Amino acid sequence: MEAESEEISPAGAAMTGLAYIRGVTTIELDQSMCNGCMMCINVCPHPVFEALKRAVAIREPDLCMECGACALNCPEGALSVNPGVGCAAAILKGWVTRSKPDCSC
Ligand code: SF4
Ligand code: SF4
Repeated sequence: MEAESEEISPAGAAMTGLAYIRGVTTIELDQSMCNGCMMCINVCPHPVFEALKRAVAIREPDLCMECGACALNCPEGALSVNPGVGCAAAILKGWVTRSKPDCSC
């Protein structure tokens, strides 16, 4: 298990982010469906997304805590995420309780 802090720039406005387990997040974006409303950037607690001219891109997927807020608020259904799969708290809770990963955050 690996977690580390790293400097985040532009869209994340110099926020230091906690990376969850690398390479396991389930966040996915269908950029062809994105209308560029930026709602996902507004609701995401971490600098996962990058604003482009008429759309967004996933810039730092390992910073995603799989809360599901972006997918829930995307008016185009362009985002999908399986909440809790890559969240360290959810995984640890799942190990301890021998149940499906769920951090309830
Ligand atoms: S909320 Fe959806 S449509 Fe809006 S910018 Fe994000 S991905 Fe694109
Ligand atoms: S699931 Fe949560 S943390 Fe991950 S990109 Fe969406 S809003 Fe950000």
